Amino acid sequence: MKKILILGGTGDASELARRVALLEGVEVISSLAGRTRKPAEVAGNVRVGGFGGEAGLGEFLQNETIDLVVDATHPFARCISFNAAAACLACGVEHLMLIRPAWEKMEGDQWIEVESNEMAAQVLAGFKRVFLTIGRQELAVFSNLPDIWFLMRMIDPPAPQMRIPKGELLLDKGPFSLADERALLVKYKIDVIVSKNSGGEATYAKIVAARELGKPVVMVERPPVPGGEVVTDVESAYLWILKKLFQ
Ligand code: NAP
Repeated sequence: MKKILILGGTGDASELARRVALLEGVEVISSLAGRTRKPAEVAGNVRVGGFGGEAGLGEFLQNETIDLVVDATHPFARCISFNAAAACLACGVEHLMLIRPAWEKMEGDQWIEVESNEMAAQVLAGFKRVFLTIGRQELAVFSNLPDIWFLMRMIDPPAPQMRIPKGELLLDKGPFSLADERALLVKYKIDVIVSKNSGGEATYAKIVAARELGKPVVMVERPPVPGGEVVTDVESAYLWILKKLFQ
């Protein structure tokens, strides 16, 4: 029996697990950080929670006799990706990163590109009503802007002790349609969106809606990725697995 560890928490990771779980003689283990209260169902075996850094992940790879690792985490999940690359190298386990392409700026887009959420907060001076779509973990960065009202969308509510900006929480999970995103921007009189450059289709409609309505987007650029083999779609990751296992 061959064992594959998929580092997940994304739609692409779930889709890859679904396909790999159908292969004869292959056990797939998907790993989730445990951030969302009700994660979507994933095919195969699932483990939840951190490994304990690079060393903990290395121990897991050895104890579970993992043959291949596919890191299909979100492009902004930087720590786990660096830990995985290092642990795989140290343990001699083959490793692939599945990183969906970033969104490209198109004609009509008014993007203000920044390197971090901290820089995003700095460029918001002068705006009044902001649609914040960065998730719930880094809301505190935007909490010292008393002149701005925020619509904050996320899957689960922030931790009770977290400092959050003034405004309204919207608990919702993609994919989001263009019609709904357009209606949201109009209903809440949004004058700027803050978004990570996540890539993919599920959350792209807000970027199109902003373009259509002539609204700017503060676009947080992706963090660096570790060196190593990269593919950009599920099909290519699946073919890599087949090649490694059966050739
Ligand atoms: P991160 O900063 O890279 O990870 C922080 C720590 O969480 C890691 O060091 C690791 O703990 C643990 N961890 C992260 N992903 C894990 C996984 N798939 N399985 C087991 N442990 C994991 O990651 P993050 O940005 O907090 O994201 C957490 C998860 O949410 C990821 O799985 C990612 O795919 C998903 N996600 C993230 C975003 C985002 O914007 N960041 C968006 C959508 C989904 P140890 O060091 O103890 O191993």
